[in-house]
Amino acid sequence: MKWLYPDIYVDSLLEIKPEMLVEKGIKALILDLDNTLVARGRKKAEPEVIKWLKDFRQRGFKLCIVSNSTWGRSGRIARTLGLPSVFRAVKPRRQPFRRALSILGTRPEETAVVGDQLFTDVLGGNRLGLYTIMVPSLGGPDFILTRLIIRRIERLLLPRIKAKRRVASGGEGDYCLR
Ligand SMILES: [Mg+2]
Repeated sequence: MKWLYPDIYVDSLLEIKPEMLVEKGIKALILDLDNTLVARGRKKAEPEVIKWLKDFRQRGFKLCIVSNSTWGRSGRIARTLGLPSVFRAVKPRRQPFRRALSILGTRPEETAVVGDQLFTDVLGGNRLGLYTIMVPSLGGPDFILTRLIIRRIERLLLPRIKAKRRVASGGEGDYCLR
């Protein structure tokens, strides 16, 4: 079960601030694309997300997308965002995360995974000892199997995850991390 617990859960991607990760020694982010940065089905990221990425870059963070989707729409989004990417990742396999680490040039303990799914992003990140951050789905449609099976299991687990790992925003930049 512990493999399915993120290190932290936040109510929005935008609540993740560089300062809280700098404190933890994190230098790079591995980012899920669909329903984390961009609602699945949308062609581009919202301006707030673009600004959020810029804030991290300006603080010296390295960023890389790891996505289970194929090149094409996702590749175009990644190019527009100017981010290196690993596609067809088949998360939670470890290999795509390892590839991302080599692109980023960081060690697992210096790297966080940010994603909306327990069984791909969180599980995959935990298997490699990365710092895992779960965010709510942006609400775009999931793949059918994800919707029918995975999301149902997530719904059962989420109350416990939120009770144990949720980090509440205490206003401007204040966070209480466990
Ligand atoms: Mg996703």
